[in-house]
Amino acid sequence: MHRLSGVSETELKKRGQLGYVKQSPSPESHCSNCQLWLPKKDSKDCGNCQIFKGPVYAQGYCTYWAPQMI
Ligand code: SF4
Repeated sequence: MHRLSGVSETELKKRGQLGYVKQSPSPESHCSNCQLWLPKKDSKDCGNCQIFKGPVYAQGYCTYWAPQMI
């Protein structure tokens, strides 16, 4: 469980506009394998995203999902 209490209304709206969901509809595409994912050292289930503030779920997803370049 992660907290959104420190996240501003504007940032929460941005998530909505980008179509962010906590659970990806696709098993192949989710935040933790997205190019914009920022992993956290202390959590496997939760990280951050480069395009909006606040925590995102590893299993989350939004319309900006892009494959990681390896
Ligand atoms: S761009 Fe979207 S899919 Fe990628 S990490 Fe951010 S919220 Fe997740």
